[in-house]
Formats: sequence, C-alpha cells, structure tokens
Amino acid sequence: MAHKVMEVLAGLKKFQQDNPRKKYLVVNDDKCGKIREHQDKLHTGEFVDRLTEKAISDYAKDSRHKFYRKERAEIRQTVETFLTWNDGQFDPRLRNIYYPEPHFDIPIEEEWAKFDFVDAHGKQQTGQLAIKGTIDLVTLVNEETIEVVDWKSGRRLDWATGEEKTYEKMWGDPQLLLYFYAMSKMFPEFKYRIMSIFFYKDTEGKPDPVPYSFCFDESDEERFLEMLKNRVGEIKENMSPKPVDPTRKDLKCKYLCHFYKNKFEGESNCMCRSVEKSLKEEGMDVVLEKYTAPDFNIGFYEAPG
Ligand code: SF4
Repeated sequence: MAHKVMEVLAGLKKFQQDNPRKKYLVVNDDKCGKIREHQDKLHTGEFVDRLTEKAISDYAKDSRHKFYRKERAEIRQTVETFLTWNDGQFDPRLRNIYYPEPHFDIPIEEEWAKFDFVDAHGKQQTGQLAIKGTIDLVTLVNEETIEVVDWKSGRRLDWATGEEKTYEKMWGDPQLLLYFYAMSKMFPEFKYRIMSIFFYKDTEGKPDPVPYSFCFDESDEERFLEMLKNRVGEIKENMSPKPVDPTRKDLKCKYLCHFYKNKFEGESNCMCRSVEKSLKEEGMDVVLEKYTAPDFNIGFYEAPG
C-alpha cells in the first residue's frame, strides 16, 4: 500500500513533467483507478493522507484482513519515512521521473536458455527462459545516468539462511543482479545505472533507515547470466524436486504461483499436484518436506498457444 502511494506520486510527478501547463495532474492506476489532483496539492500532507487512505481501502476491499487504525497509521508512517528521508532524497515528487514502476519481461538470448522437450502428456514444450519483474521507480540523474529506487518494507535478510545481508553480500544478491540486468536491457541508452534500495526497517542502530546504493557495470551482466545459467542447470538436473510447501498453503503457492492457480487440460488438480503425481507414477522421488527456497525465483516462458 505504501508502494502504491509512491507509485501514484511518481506517476503524478511524471504527468507534471510531461504537461507543465496543466493545472490538474492525472494518473490512471491499475488498483486505485483515476487519480486527479490539482498541482498545488501534490506536495501537501493532506493529499498524501488521502492517497494513503485510498490505497489502503482499494487493497483492503479484496483482502480478508481488516486494516485497523494502528495498521493504517503504520502504513502512513512508512510513506512518511520514504518521503522525508534525508530531506526528501527519495521523494518521487522531488525527482526527475524517468519511468514510474516499469514492468519487465525480458527473454534471455542465450542458447542454454532455450528449452524444447516433450512433457508428461506427450506435448512438445518449446520456449525460452525470461526474467520478469517490476522496478519501483526509475529516475533521471543526468544525461548519462539513471537511478533505480526500490523501497523495501521487509528486513535486509537472506531468507534462506536468516542472516543479515551486508553491503558486500548484496553485491552478489541475485535479485539485485537481476534488476541490474533488466535495467541494462530496458535502458541501454544510459552509460551509468545506480541501484538504490531503501530497507526502511533497517536502521543499524541509528535513528534513520539506511539506503544502499550500487553501481553495477557490464561485467555484472556476465555475472548475472552465469548465476542464472547455473540455477537453471540445477533445476533441469533436479531429479528430486521439493515443493515449497507440501500442503500448498504457503503464500508463494496460493498467491504467486502459476502452477497452483492453473490446471492442465482434463486434470482436476492444480498443475503442481499433477506434476507431483506423474513424477511419482514414474517412480521419481518428490520430497514432501518444507523446502527453503533460495531468494531467487525463476519462471519459464510458456510456449505460444
Ligand atoms: S510449484 Fe508453485 S504450487 Fe508447487 S510447491 Fe512450488 S510454489 Fe507451491
């Protein structure tokens, strides 16, 4: 919800940049609908209050969770932290917005990233590995430089090990490298790309959160592809797959996974359970224990049609 507020503010600022003569700023948001506001209100706390309430209500109506006053206040506080840190360094209204919340879906143009096999139902599956995701905000620093800002409401932890991610460890963080790779493909016109991550709950004992900024270069593209290739290789070779959760009640299964939400034609179970069943029928071992997923999710492009 706090992210949504930031996204809408960035969208309104972009509208203002593109339409300097217009008094009313407009954004058509996928969740909050049409937001139209007078430019004089953009920087007011009253508007941010209203926008935050709207974002909360629009998400809350599709949720079983009730958002009580304390939680609403927490979300508003999160927005305030994002907006006011270091005199508004990450306030999108004070930035030159290049792209608010770009989505990416980038095929990996490498021979090893192609797949072509016959599945358990005798169907030919052909496709290509792709990376998909969303970046919170891309801002223009100067003609040669963009800065990507990613607000993180979670802790700076490696979820597989429970250890805190240090600055050094983050250099090898697959998600950061993936973002960087996506940026280099989406915005090749820029020579320099800065990636800033704002873990607002990590204060390192100081009164304020500490953002982390990284400047990757071309050698990191190679590093990312190598990491991805190894991970894809591991998955391809895996003869003993472990479900994220044998009961499929995990949030990743229920809310995020294509293989939970969809069924193969003629099957009553979700795709994931169908695959598990067919693997078992073929005598393969599906390990029914909780699997701690690495902080690195990849998906395969579906074959056209
Ligand atoms: S494939 Fe999807 S549904 Fe199956 S265990 Fe993994 S995340 Fe859950």
